[in-house]
Amino acid sequence: MSAPTPVVVAAYVAAYVALDWVSFIHPVGAFGITPWNPPPGLSLAFLLRYGLQHAPWLFVAALAAEFLVRGAPAPIAVLVAASLLLALSYTAVAAVLSRVLRIDVDLRSLRDVAAFITTSAIACALIALASVALFAGTGVLPPGEFREGVLQFWIGDLIGIVVTAPAVLVVTRRGTMRRRPSFETLAELTAIALALWLVFGAGLGDAPTLFYVLFLPIVWIAMRHGFDGAVFATLAMQLGLIAAIVVTGLGRSGTLEFQFLMLAIAVTGLLLGAAVSERRTIERELRTKQAALDRSLRLAAASELASSLAHELNQPLSAIGTYLRACQLMLTRKGTGDELALTMDKVIAEANRAASVVRRLRDFFRSGSTRIEPIAPSRLVDEASATLRERAAEHRVAVAATTDGVPDVLVDRVQVEAVLHNLLANAIDALKTTSGERRVRIDVAKDGSDFVRICVADNGSGVASDIAASLFDPFVTTKATGMGLGLAISKSIVDAHGGRLWHEARTPGSAFCFTLPTAS
Ligand code: ADP
Repeated sequence: MSAPTPVVVAAYVAAYVALDWVSFIHPVGAFGITPWNPPPGLSLAFLLRYGLQHAPWLFVAALAAEFLVRGAPAPIAVLVAASLLLALSYTAVAAVLSRVLRIDVDLRSLRDVAAFITTSAIACALIALASVALFAGTGVLPPGEFREGVLQFWIGDLIGIVVTAPAVLVVTRRGTMRRRPSFETLAELTAIALALWLVFGAGLGDAPTLFYVLFLPIVWIAMRHGFDGAVFATLAMQLGLIAAIVVTGLGRSGTLEFQFLMLAIAVTGLLLGAAVSERRTIERELRTKQAALDRSLRLAAASELASSLAHELNQPLSAIGTYLRACQLMLTRKGTGDELALTMDKVIAEANRAASVVRRLRDFFRSGSTRIEPIAPSRLVDEASATLRERAAEHRVAVAATTDGVPDVLVDRVQVEAVLHNLLANAIDALKTTSGERRVRIDVAKDGSDFVRICVADNGSGVASDIAASLFDPFVTTKATGMGLGLAISKSIVDAHGGRLWHEARTPGSAFCFTLPTAS
């Protein structure tokens, strides 16, 4: 909270006196209890924005107004007491709002706007009762005007606060985007003027019964521009209303009635505007989060793929190197044409294998937009096992699959193959230290009528107990070169398909199972 500069303080006192002067219509008693009293709104905004320690300026401004606007209508002691009471009261309201209810003074949430309006309504009622009692007690106000005095005081201050304070807070808010007046702004102001004219100038009937027309532009603007729009629309409407009251020479009781109606408009507009702004903020935050999540998921998927592809590419590339060295040897010897052709074939086969690995990588990234299609689970299992056949053979792991009699599943082929690839690679890794027979079983079976369940089970080391609880969290790994992303990504892919992925401990080894929706 920054301290106000002397210019700001001077502007505040001057604005207080000026607003007191322009709003001095239909006063009750000599104290100018008017049906529209913006200075308290200005004072409240001043304290909320710059801090409660600047409360003495409220007293100065209130006393200055008594002298300059009303020419000191009562003995100086009463004027000082009344100004002190006002300053203390509004400081108390600001304290409740900022210290007890801890509202954000930028009024960015519906909760803050509702708390601001409710607190102001209760506080204004208490202040009205106390002030009017003081005036009546000191004989400044005739006893017959007590009730009307309280009512007018309450509505005048409340409408002044509800209309003025948010406008001041929005204007002095840091980082507020200033909207350039556009054709739309002009249309909105015209709508407010038109509505006021319909109510007061068109001679259509009794003004208060047509009052509902004034809601329309406020609702429109609040829906379009949120809280900030509603704040300025309400202010424009209130100024127009006061002008209309002065021009049409409406009496005090009519004015009072209009102020109650105006309060309904202001509260509706501000709450609606706050709700619209809050929703927009939430939507914006959600979009940002979603984009960040997308980015991190893609990044995670990319690193996982990169590490497993590096592994897969390493094999064909070193095989190609070995075969080519053999070819070189054969070329130095004569008469090995057949053998040379055979080895060259192997080089070509390995090069093709490397190319298919790269193609899979490209497919994966192209599949940023998912392509859901019906596919037989056996095809998914075959494709995934084919890519790991060499690795399984290298570690003497026997992979067997049973996939008969299950319906097609509705999935993104590339993504589900990546899941199977991850689970199979993990199973092979878990078997590396197993002595004796090393087995991986892939079982595909129906799971109820809507799902197919695929389990990849191994008789390996089993899941280490220290990571069992966080197995599916990212970056959980027991491998020296592992990224700990395979299971996390697999789970998010399976979740995205509407299935679920879980771990089952087996003796020996473990199984990872997941479900996929059937196509039919
Ligand atoms: P990474 O393979 O990079 O470590 P994963 O998320 O795929 O990442 O696996 C996380 C950890 O889960 C592995 O490091 C391993 O300790 C454990 N794990 C996964 N599958 C198995 C399995 N079939 N048997 C035993 N442990 C496993």
